[in-house]
Order: sequence, then structure tokens, then C-alpha cells
Amino acid sequence: MLTSIKGKSVIVTGGSKGIGRGIASVFAKQGANVMIAARGAEAAEAACDAMNAEGCSTKWTSCDVSDWGSVQAMVQATADAFGGVDIMCANAGAFPQTKIAEMDPEEWDQVMATNLRSAFLCVKACIPHFEKSGKGRVVLTSSITGPVTGFPGWSHYGASKAGQLGFLKTAAMELSRYNTTINAVMPGNIYTEGLQDLGQEYLETMAASIPLKRLGAVEDIGNAALFFASDEAAYITGQQIVVDGGQIIPESLEALEEI
Ligand code: NAP
Repeated sequence: MLTSIKGKSVIVTGGSKGIGRGIASVFAKQGANVMIAARGAEAAEAACDAMNAEGCSTKWTSCDVSDWGSVQAMVQATADAFGGVDIMCANAGAFPQTKIAEMDPEEWDQVMATNLRSAFLCVKACIPHFEKSGKGRVVLTSSITGPVTGFPGWSHYGASKAGQLGFLKTAAMELSRYNTTINAVMPGNIYTEGLQDLGQEYLETMAASIPLKRLGAVEDIGNAALFFASDEAAYITGQQIVVDGGQIIPESLEALEEI
């Protein structure tokens, strides 16, 4: 199952940490050639070295996913390194927590650029490679926050993640001419460096509100991304899957206490 990933050229944005690192690791362990992209060189290089030490084939490149020139350079570096681009995992994102009353318009724009503009840029930059090979895969990392749930401080973040799903529908139609699919994984609360920054109390409250009673692991998202990227998922496009341990299901606190 899913052996079709072996030898594929994969980009994972935000692959230096957290969910991106988990996605990169899952793909690399399946035999893919993985380009890890992030702004910070040190963490990207460290992630790459750790995976290669386990026999994986990864490289890293510095990239700011909100910048068109930087995204184009990342995609070209991948094509030069691995002979093309088969799979784009547009995962990099930021989630500063600021309530609307206190938020500067600049922060809104920055979150939109990092989370939503980046999805457009990453897809656009890969199109020539998908067209050339006659096939491709895009997997976006969206979120439950925005499309399904809300949380004070994340109006910009939620809008950007819901916006990704709006982008996804038309992108699925436009990419079909290149025999390319695009789908999104919607994580719940996944234990990452970024989530740890929100503090221990946040982590414990969240874990308690999840029916499976734990935060997600980065590999839980990596495995869902792997499925969307596989040949076996060739007929699925424009879709999203929630991977959240059941977090969005309980109707009330009481319902959660019943289990
Ligand atoms: P994280 O631990 O903070 O890691 C974020 C990664 O993205 C890092 O590699 C970071 O590297 C990179 N990045 C951030 N801004 C970038 C930019 N402008 N250009 C290039 N790379 C950039 O975050 P995470 O928790 O793994 O989240 C990853 C994705 O999953 C995000 O899209 C997030 O919204 C989504 N998500 C996370 C959760 C969760 O519970 N953790 C839940 C739902 C959705 P540099 O800083 O070095 O660039």
C-alpha cells in the first residue's frame, strides 16, 4: 500500500519543525526525495541531517513562503536536485494569537501572507513541473480552526485556514488539466514546537477536550498527507480531511464527560 511514493520528488514547506518535519519524515521513510524548506537554515539543516542519518534522501533550502521570488527559487532548487517536482506539501504557517481589538492591520496581512498567499504561490510555482510530467499532487495543511471552529485571538489565522479551503476548490478544477490533485489535511491540536509556545495550560486543556484524550502526533498528519499524495488517491481532489482525535465532535462538555 502507498508504495507509489518511492523515488518521488517532494517539497515540504515548514519541514524543519513540527507538522512539516513529521510530513517530511513520513515521506522520506517511504523512499521519497524530500526538500525541506523553511526560513531558518539551522533547523532545516538539522532536520535534514537527522533524516539522512536514518538512510533517507533529503535536502534543505531557505525559503520565505510569503515571497514569490523565494518560492520560485525553492521550487527550482528542488527540480534541479531531484529532476522535477511531483508533490508539493504546502504546510508552513504561523499562528500568533491576538484578539481583534488589539490586532494591528500589519499582523493580519502577515498571517494572510504566510498562510494563504503562500498556498497560491506554492501551487503556481509548481504548475510548470506538473504540466511537464503530466501529473502532480498538492497537499495543503489547513486547520480545524477557521473552517470548523473558532478560538479567541485567531480571527486572522482562522480566516487564512478557511481561505485555503476556498482556494482549494477552484485550484482542484484548474489543476485537473495537468492531471494533478489538490487536497487538504485539517489538523486538530498537534504536539509541535509551535503549539508548545502556547503554554502548558493550553496543551493540557486541549488534550482533555479531545475524545481520544491526547494531542496529535506530527506523524498523524504526515500519514494523512501521504495518502492524499499517493497514486492510490488519484481520484480524490478538492477535498479535505479532519485529523483531530475527534475534537470537533462533542456537542458539550457533558457529552465529553459521558465517555
Ligand atoms: P511550527 O512548529 O511553528 O513550525 C512551523 C514551520 O513553518 C517551521 O518549519 C517554520 O520555520 C516554518 N515557517 C513559518 N513561517 C514561514 C515562512 N514565512 N516561510 C517558510 N517557512 C515558514 O508549526 P506547526 O505547529 O508544525 O504548524 C505547521 C502547520 O500546521 C501550519 O500551517 C499550522 O497552521 C498548521 N496547523 C498546526 C496545528 C497544531 O496543532 N500544531 C493545528 C492545525 C494546523 P521558520 O520559522 O524557520 O521559517
